[in-house]
Amino acid sequence: MNPSRRPLIAGNWKMYKGGRTGVELAQDIVKSSHSLGSGVDLVIAPPFTVLAAVASTVEDSSVQLAAQNFYPKNEGAFTGEISPSMLKDCGCAWVIIGHSERRQYFGESNSFVAEKVTSALANDLVPIVCVGETLAQRQANETLRVVEGQLNAFIDIIARSPHAVAIAYEPVWAIGTGKVAGPGEAEEVHVAIRKQLAAKDEALATRTRLLYGGSVKPENAAALLACANVDGALVGGACLDAASFSAIARAANR
Ligand code: PEP
Repeated sequence: MNPSRRPLIAGNWKMYKGGRTGVELAQDIVKSSHSLGSGVDLVIAPPFTVLAAVASTVEDSSVQLAAQNFYPKNEGAFTGEISPSMLKDCGCAWVIIGHSERRQYFGESNSFVAEKVTSALANDLVPIVCVGETLAQRQANETLRVVEGQLNAFIDIIARSPHAVAIAYEPVWAIGTGKVAGPGEAEEVHVAIRKQLAAKDEALATRTRLLYGGSVKPENAAALLACANVDGALVGGACLDAASFSAIARAANR
């Protein structure tokens, strides 16, 4: 295993557990992280409303904090938005960018994703940038072309950055549906992403962690994480249960 690509398991809580139940979930995740050892990085992305409280909960643990979103300006008259520096102040080290739900429901384009990657890196937040095709695109054999285009939008930015970012391949048809990509399907796309990174810069390909996301569960995690180019997972539904999230992390701790 490449040491700069230690397995990373990130939990995207989406719009769940935004209050007291979020702190309880974080407490349970911290407890189970104690038996995990240092072979895997654990990141959790709670909703904004509970970020500060969860930051205190994870403070003396190995669990790291991510935000699910932000607006790529440092301050200003942007009612309802949260800046990257506010996330840093709150204790976040990571941020998810380009999740398909943001692309689909909030119209986030490839160029806006690129702007957010620049802004996150400038503020010392490590992006987990999501890419992935829809079912219609897969059925039309456009998977590799779509993912290549999404990566192309921000590849120059991450190639220039000294920070190692993570890219999550999340086939849209597998998110929250229970339909998981098979290890072969996931690895095929991960290999294509790795090759595209290598064509830009070998060191970029070596340091970038490629996560798979889409209905990852304790039952399928080991097979996915055994793929040579799968360096971790971005987990939605299963991360809302500390026992399931820990079981996935244990599968990664190889
Ligand atoms: C996600 O939200 O990024 C995700 C992969 O969700 P799920 O695991 O529920 O498919």
